[in-house]
Amino acid sequence: MDLSDLARRIRAGERRGLARAITLVESGREDHRAAAVELIETLGRAGRMALRIGLSGTPGVGKSTFIEGFGKMLTAQGNRVAVLAVDPSSARSGGSILGDKTRMERLSRDPRAFIRPSPSQTHLGGVARRTREAVALCEAAGFDIVLIETVGVGQSETMVAEMCDLFVLLMAPAGGDELQGVKRGIMEIADLILVNKADGDLLPAATRTCADYAGALRLLRKRPEDPPGFPKALTVSAISETGLEAAWEEMQALDRWRRAAGHWQARRARQAHHWFREELRHGLMARLAADPALRQLETELGAAVAEGRRTAASAAREVLAALAG
Ligand code: GDP
Repeated sequence: MDLSDLARRIRAGERRGLARAITLVESGREDHRAAAVELIETLGRAGRMALRIGLSGTPGVGKSTFIEGFGKMLTAQGNRVAVLAVDPSSARSGGSILGDKTRMERLSRDPRAFIRPSPSQTHLGGVARRTREAVALCEAAGFDIVLIETVGVGQSETMVAEMCDLFVLLMAPAGGDELQGVKRGIMEIADLILVNKADGDLLPAATRTCADYAGALRLLRKRPEDPPGFPKALTVSAISETGLEAAWEEMQALDRWRRAAGHWQARRARQAHHWFREELRHGLMARLAADPALRQLETELGAAVAEGRRTAASAAREVLAALAG
């Protein structure tokens, strides 16, 4: 494989080259892995940076409809937009909530857009790494905005928050006074809550729900990386494409503020460090798995720990010593 040619094609913004490189980072083969690492290292030196936006919401809330409308709005303004998906359901079952090819049909035909479904059939940690590398490739390909979409289940939201500059939560209008299904931890990582489906019969409920979320957000502990007024809740209608401009303006305002205050840089630095630790952890476990003798030792000691013959700490030390030796 000619890596320098692939790098050149990516830098030139060639979508087929980009798609090929993402396939490379998604591969489990060791030689592909080495090539992917080299490619990302080469491309990273150019220092191109997109605005990375994480977007989450439960199935049916309107994520694809929103991304289609929002993405079209952004490309109409001259931006190049990449959409990546993280789907924990595909990690578990091989089936996918987000992987449907017919989604975002208009956006997928847009020459300024690039859409990539979630990698499947691997554990969530693997998906995380691949998505993070795909983000880096999209940045190198000169995309202005990278949207990372995920479903509101499991740990995928925290993981996506670790790779984006802004985190947007899409919610549905609630009936009555319940703030449906929002885990506190998710509220805490959201920068913007968008209550979708604020149209037709659902408009009053959406308006009420939005006010409820705004109230709930005010009760959260103030985060240093927020200007006054953030995190915020707004209503949108993905179908009638209302509120999308306003949502984009809020995202840009927050991004500008964070950059000027140095929070953007600090967050990227923190994330890079986090991923470095993840890579190390992953590499250590892979070394363990690749060595039959070590694997055997781990199995035996694992059983001994389970049976209470060894403590977890001393057994782990023994494996680590064998790994080092
Ligand atoms: P996803 O599973 O989160 O990607 O949700 P979809 O985008 O597939 O939308 C789920 C359903 O909600 C579809 O039937 C959409 O037509 C509908 N929907 C999405 N956005 C809106 C909206 O703004 N208003 C209304 N009334 N329906 C919407």
